[in-house]
Amino acid sequence: FSLFLRKICDHEERTFLLIKPDAVQRGLVGQIIKKFEQKGFKLIGMKFMLASKELVKNHYSYLSNEPFFPGLLKYMSSGPVVPMVWEGPNVVKNARIIIGITNPEDCIPGTIRGDFSIQTGPNLIHGADGVEEANKEMYLWFTQKELISWKPAITTWVYEGC
Ligand code: UDP
Repeated sequence: FSLFLRKICDHEERTFLLIKPDAVQRGLVGQIIKKFEQKGFKLIGMKFMLASKELVKNHYSYLSNEPFFPGLLKYMSSGPVVPMVWEGPNVVKNARIIIGITNPEDCIPGTIRGDFSIQTGPNLIHGADGVEEANKEMYLWFTQKELISWKPAITTWVYEGC
């Protein structure tokens, strides 16, 4: 039982999220972060930076043959972005649900893209698509030292038995 307790209290899963330039320009950074904070997930890394085309190319390498790729590179390096790492149980899948699907037209209200965006291009935020992708992406944008292990004071009120 104590092993089980340790497992549910450790919440080792991490995801990589990236607030895109359109969200920064529109002053939505705070509202976006709030969604994950109020859910109870733990922020363990965050920066405010300009992403080079090289970095964006690496990040979106799986899309390099798409016709929209050059436009995507331009958009993603057109202004500041906010890369973040969040931790929590099933955070990879849950963050994607909070974000909403790729095309904002088909997103339900309550999701970030559903509430604040209209088109597939400028859709405000990226969320890693799986645990493996999350691990790869977080070390593309962060060094190990930039990710902080800490125990939020809210932990005992968000998780049973922790
Ligand atoms: N994108 C685009 N046109 C498309 C598909 C994607 O401009 O037809 C952009 C959009 O910003 C999207 C990003 O490329 O968020 C990455 O696409 P992906 O299929 O990985 O979607 P996501 O995981 O962001 O929902």
